Amino acid sequence: MIRKITLLLLTAFLITACDKGDKSGAQGNWYDALPRESWSKFEKIDTGQNWFEVYKLTDNTYAIYEPYQWQEAISYLLIGSEKAMLVDTLQGIGNLKAVTDKLTNLPIIVMNTHSHYDHVSGNWQYDTIYGVSNPYTLDNTKGHSHEEMKAGMTPDTVWKNLPDTFSFDTYESKPYNIDKFVEDGEIIDIGGRPIEVVYTPGHSPDSVILVDKQNRMMFTGDSFYPAPIYLYSEKASFEDFFISAQIMFDYHDQVDYLMPGHNETMQPAAYLNKLRQATMDIINPSTRYIQGDKRRTYQFDGFSIIVKDPLDFGIR
Ligand SMILES: [Zn+2]
Repeated sequence: MIRKITLLLLTAFLITACDKGDKSGAQGNWYDALPRESWSKFEKIDTGQNWFEVYKLTDNTYAIYEPYQWQEAISYLLIGSEKAMLVDTLQGIGNLKAVTDKLTNLPIIVMNTHSHYDHVSGNWQYDTIYGVSNPYTLDNTKGHSHEEMKAGMTPDTVWKNLPDTFSFDTYESKPYNIDKFVEDGEIIDIGGRPIEVVYTPGHSPDSVILVDKQNRMMFTGDSFYPAPIYLYSEKASFEDFFISAQIMFDYHDQVDYLMPGHNETMQPAAYLNKLRQATMDIINPSTRYIQGDKRRTYQFDGFSIIVKDPLDFGIR
């Protein structure tokens, strides 16, 4: 338990990362609850890269999942008729490019849901990166040195199947360039498959969701996953998230599936209403929460939200 909390603190504060980790209630090892049963209903694809588990979710959508590292990060490969879009690039541990080369011959556009290291550390392997024009994003394109990263990437965080090419002694998050800046509301068309970019700051200043109305999917990054949602890091803003949860809810009748950046995929869109309601509950002073050190944890049905204490709402 103490080790897990230490990991959370290191990840959140030292590496300006973020997210997830439905680990705090478990006894023993963090991976004892794995594999998660919900993945078993999808077709598993062998790409020869054992660090990743790859699942064919639909005819034109793949999930690339890292179940052997405690972040359990997920990226998605969306296939259009002319191009493919890679939503996030994980942590730079295995050879992600070798996976996507197996899945498609189309040119790949990388689009990140936000610039935390566990979503962008494979960007350097790709030629075409789209991103938002935000000072926070631009700062993160410089990458993170081994000194910055080493505390959060330790043998304790890995279960098995670590690639031979990986070393804890040299691990870093490599820099990359953004080739095209995308605006709020912009449509990226990969050929018969329009993907809308929607700014949803809160978890990070540069968080976006990607909405694929044709396939009724919303790629949520860390703005929603079925685990503790982190809104307490230095650059997080509950006040921004409050508005973003409303913006996400506005799509509730246009999507059926939420596609999170960690743990589990294809979650029901009914969570959009629960998330919006949760933000309203949090601003209600009578709502109960668990008091932590300069933070509060609010528990909801299927997820929780960790915010700063005092709550950063209505203060500017
Ligand atoms: Zn994040």
